Amino acid sequence: MYGFATRAIHRRPFKKDVHGALRVPVYDCSSFEHDDSRSLQLSFAGKKPAHVYSRITNPTVEDFEQRLRELSGGLAALATSSGMAAISNTIMALAGSGTNIVTTKKIFGNTLALFEKTLQPWGLVTRCVSMSELDEIERAIDAKTCAVFLESMTNPHLEVADIGRISRLTHERGVPLVLDNTVMTPYLFNSKEAGADIEILSSTKSISGGGTVVGGVIIDNGTFDWLRSPKLAVKAESFGKMAFIAALRADVYRNIGACMSPHNAYLQTLGLETLSLRLDKTCANTQKIADFLENQPHIAAVHYPGLVSSPYHEIAARLFHGKYGGVLTFDLADQDSCFALMDSLQLIKRATNINDNKTLILHPASTIFVEYGEAEKTAMGLRSTMLRLSVGIEDYEDLLDDLQRGLKTL
Ligand code: PLP
Repeated sequence: MYGFATRAIHRRPFKKDVHGALRVPVYDCSSFEHDDSRSLQLSFAGKKPAHVYSRITNPTVEDFEQRLRELSGGLAALATSSGMAAISNTIMALAGSGTNIVTTKKIFGNTLALFEKTLQPWGLVTRCVSMSELDEIERAIDAKTCAVFLESMTNPHLEVADIGRISRLTHERGVPLVLDNTVMTPYLFNSKEAGADIEILSSTKSISGGGTVVGGVIIDNGTFDWLRSPKLAVKAESFGKMAFIAALRADVYRNIGACMSPHNAYLQTLGLETLSLRLDKTCANTQKIADFLENQPHIAAVHYPGLVSSPYHEIAARLFHGKYGGVLTFDLADQDSCFALMDSLQLIKRATNINDNKTLILHPASTIFVEYGEAEKTAMGLRSTMLRLSVGIEDYEDLLDDLQRGLKTL
C-alpha cells in the first residue's frame, strides 16, 4: 500500500468526473434533479445511492469524507460544519436521557461544556475521571455508559492516555471508545490501530491547512459491535457494522443540519493533500522551540510530550513514533508576565486556533475558558500562568528571534 502522503494526494476522485478533472468540482448546489419520481422515492428511502439535497449528502463533501475514511482505514466517514458539530452529532447518536459519558476535565473546554452544560438538561450525565487511572475509568463505567470520550492529546493540557489499555477495558465492558484526534490527526496517530471505535476531527485545524475554514469529521473505525449498544442494538439488527453511521446520518445529522458546505469540503481536501508535509515541519519546529524554552530563566515549566521531562513522554513515544504534534504550553510567573510576553511578539500572532500554518499564542485561562469560575478552572488544572503556543510552519530561526526578543522584555 502507498504511504500516507502519496495516498493523500493521489486518491482518485470518489466518482470519476465526466471531464476527467483531477479534482472533484465544487458542487455548490442545494438539490439534485432526478429523471423520474421513482428514482427520487428510492433515493429518499436510502435504497438508491444518489444525492438529493446537500444537507444530507453532496458529491464534493462525499469525496472529502471518503478521502479521510481511506487515509484512516475506517469503515465510514461523515463531514460536519465544525469539530463541535462532529462531537455533538456523535454523542447525540450514542446517548439518551439517563445515560452517562465517561471523560476527563482536561479535554477541550467547549467539549466539556457541551457535555456538562448543553446536554445535561437533556439527561446526559458526565462522569469525569483521570484518564491515567484505569481503575477510575473502570469504576465510572456502568450499564448506562454510552461512551468513553477522550482526546489523543488533550488540548490545552497535552496529556496522553494509554489508549490501547483503555480500549481493551471499554471493549470488555461493551462501551464504544470515542477519540478526538484533532491535535494529532490521522497522519501522526492511527486511532483504529490504537483501538478507538470512533474518531473525531476538527478539520478546522491541521487538515484545513492555513486556518481557511471551520469543519469537522466523524470516522467510524468499524471496530465496535453495535449490538452491544443499548441505543443502537435495534439498528444493528438490520444494519450490522453500519448501524452507527446509519443512525448518525438518518436520525441526527440530517435533522440537526450541521452539514459541511461543498466549498469548505473543497478547501479541506486541498489542505489534506499537504497535511503530512506541514505536520513534519510543525513537529520539528515545536520540538526545537520546546527544547529552547525549557532552558530559559523566566520560564517556570514547559509542557510538551516530546520533552523527556514530560510525564507523558514515554507513552507518547510509544503511540506517536517520535512526532509529538504542534502544540506546547509553558508557564511564566503570573498572568501579567503572560500578557506582557504576548504583547511583545511581532511575528507570532495573538489568536485562538491550533495547527494553523502561522504560529499562534493564547492565554487559555482568560480566553477559551473565560466562562469558568476560579474553582472550576482549578479543578480543570487551568493555570493563569499558562500560555499555549501553536507552532506553525515558518522558519524556525524567525520564531526563535521573536520569542527571544519577547522574553528579554520580561
Ligand atoms: N476538539 C479539539 C481538541 C479542539 O481543539 C477543538 C477546537 O479548538 C474542537 C474539538 C472544536 O473544533 P471546531 O472549532 O472546529 O468546532
